Amino acid sequence: RQRQLRSLVDLPSRTRDGIQIRIMANLELPEDVQIARAKGAIGVGLYRTEFLFMNRDDLPEESEHLTTYAEIMEGLEGIPLTIRTLDLGADKRCDSAADSGASASNPALGLRAIRLCLKEPELFRPQLRAILRASALGPVRLMLPLITNVREVESVLELIARLKCELDTEGLGYDPDMPVGAMIEIPGAALTARSIARHVDFLSIGTNDLIQYTLAIDRLDDAVNYLYDPCHPAILRLILMAIEAGAAEGIPVSMCGEMAGDPRFTRLLIGMGLREFSMQPGAILDIKEIVLQADTGDLRERTGRLMAHLEDADPNRLLDALNLA
Ligand code: PEP
Ligand code: MG
Repeated sequence: RQRQLRSLVDLPSRTRDGIQIRIMANLELPEDVQIARAKGAIGVGLYRTEFLFMNRDDLPEESEHLTTYAEIMEGLEGIPLTIRTLDLGADKRCDSAADSGASASNPALGLRAIRLCLKEPELFRPQLRAILRASALGPVRLMLPLITNVREVESVLELIARLKCELDTEGLGYDPDMPVGAMIEIPGAALTARSIARHVDFLSIGTNDLIQYTLAIDRLDDAVNYLYDPCHPAILRLILMAIEAGAAEGIPVSMCGEMAGDPRFTRLLIGMGLREFSMQPGAILDIKEIVLQADTGDLRERTGRLMAHLEDADPNRLLDALNLA
């Protein structure tokens, strides 16, 4: 079976009816680049930068960020790299003073991710400057975690505009058109995805947090993981809203949560209109195998019927109905 899957690496990722489905890799460590390349990823849809901050007391400087990003880009040989800005707090902790939220009574709802970065410019600035500078070296996209509202996006865009002026003054290069995207991982963001989409170049759905916040289940608490259900009608509706918001505003939408790399959901997500998936590299070929056999017209029609009767359906039956080719 491994051999059979390996033979798919070089095939273009297209459905039977010729629609391109972009399959990208999630990276956590720079070392993951090689496996992403070996599996034929056409880009990195989520590079989690938290590791740069872990197991140390101080903060990485701009030059360290830049060196790390440049190294990864060299390994990627020209395919796009989506760098997510620091997503610290809640389930992702570090030792430095930057991580002040540990004592919050409810860290998952507290000052984490983009909230922390906007509050602490000395944390955020070096990373943003390094991402901008990396964009001079090849295709880079900047992605913002845990966006709650349009105001946060505007604040980041203002900051980026200021940093571009700084870099101009210093004679340092960057791509003036570097795409900036927002993650949709909060129910309120999914419900207002259209207004967020108007301010960014792409959206990416983070299902791990979206499920946590929508179903009120701590993603680290085993006692409630029996409630974890990507097919809960509320989750499917929110995902569909995000996909449709991107389509309506003419920007790409990808998904980079675990759901994107789970073969049980691939046909459903294609049927909902998703065309970009980003996943841990080990899942890429399993997903590609499903893509190659899919027919988007057929899946769109069948998914449409299922979505119209979501509340009557048992989620498992729903998946069975869709996964029977
Ligand atoms: C997500 O929440 O789905 C996601 C991709 O981000 P992380 O798992 O790093 O929180
Ligand atoms: Mg997340």
